[in-house]
Amino acid sequence: MSTDLRTRLRGPHAYDLARAAMAEMQRLGVWPTPLNFELWLQITIDPDGPLNAEVERIIQGGETITEAQSEELAAKHLARNRLAEEVRVAGDGLDLQLRQVQRVIETAQTSSAQYGATLAGASEELEHDLEPTEVKKLVETLADATHQIRRRTDALETGLTASNGEVVRLRARLEAAQREAMTDALSNLPNRKAFDIALTHACEEADETGAPLALAMVDIDLFKRFNDTWGHQTGDQVIRYVASILARAAQEPFFAARYGGEEFAVILPGETGAQAAAILDTVREEIGSRSLKRRSTDEDLGVVTVSTGVAQRGRKELPAALIERADAALYASKRNGRNRVTNAEGRFSSASAAA
Ligand code: GH3
Ligand code: MG
Ligand code: MG
Repeated sequence: MSTDLRTRLRGPHAYDLARAAMAEMQRLGVWPTPLNFELWLQITIDPDGPLNAEVERIIQGGETITEAQSEELAAKHLARNRLAEEVRVAGDGLDLQLRQVQRVIETAQTSSAQYGATLAGASEELEHDLEPTEVKKLVETLADATHQIRRRTDALETGLTASNGEVVRLRARLEAAQREAMTDALSNLPNRKAFDIALTHACEEADETGAPLALAMVDIDLFKRFNDTWGHQTGDQVIRYVASILARAAQEPFFAARYGGEEFAVILPGETGAQAAAILDTVREEIGSRSLKRRSTDEDLGVVTVSTGVAQRGRKELPAALIERADAALYASKRNGRNRVTNAEGRFSSASAAA
């Protein structure tokens, strides 16, 4: 939903959408805070959605939307906030479990101290001469204490096992939230943040091994025209199409990400610039090899092409500098007619005959 919102806010009706959201906020008398604006944008593009349903319930109940209510609605309905909420809930849960484990340990310490005292008392008594009945009583006391500490230990173990299960579950939730935070919802590729981390990591690894490292920037050609002609939803479909081919071509140890709008990045550890350019040229050919169909109407959309820039990392070159050179090579591909791969080192340049 929020991806749709992001796209729509860059589409042809972006300002109409923003105005409609503002008008509705004014009509309802809610303050034009950034958070409310985000909520009412969402309502404007998805009036039949769960957010609007809840807002209407609140209003029909005769209440007004307070700041606290906005926060609550955002946590529940806006994807970005939902994620933060998920992390907060998992964090609180882990906190609770830690405190419970701490309590279990404290109880265990107390009961073992008590048991120790009972044993010490018994050993003291044994130093005196004891009647058989007294010995019997002492043995009974010891057996009792042993039984008790066994029972407590069992209970503690059960408590710890339950805590451990809960911790495993919470960790899985945190990991899922983290994965979501690193994934682009539209293309399902790793997002820009994941890319930044992966590139830094790849550079460190290349420094250690001395192996080459290449970076490719891939941009869909004339995508604005495509959007204007067919609408942003069909545009989204094209982004998914290009992403799926990149994902298939860039399996481990390669790494493909959505860098932004209609631009993708591929990290190629172990490849020289020339090798990476050859690989990306195969990708370019594959992308342009199919005539696409509009899913909703089955209309023929023609082919979509991409332009690519490739750069091989120089010794100790910083990630930002590498990206800049790959970007410059990408723009050379655009300048020279699109649907082609340009290698920053200038040893590779290709284009289809049609370009
Ligand atoms: P060039 O070949 O020079 O790259 O031309 P272009 O039209 O592809 O480039 P330009 O940067 O002018 O336009 C990119 C367009 O991509 C503009 C923007 O509205 C659109 N866009 C960005 N992100 C998305 C998205 O997530 N979905 C859709 N449908 N369109 C998007
Ligand atoms: Mg483009
Ligand atoms: Mg672009």
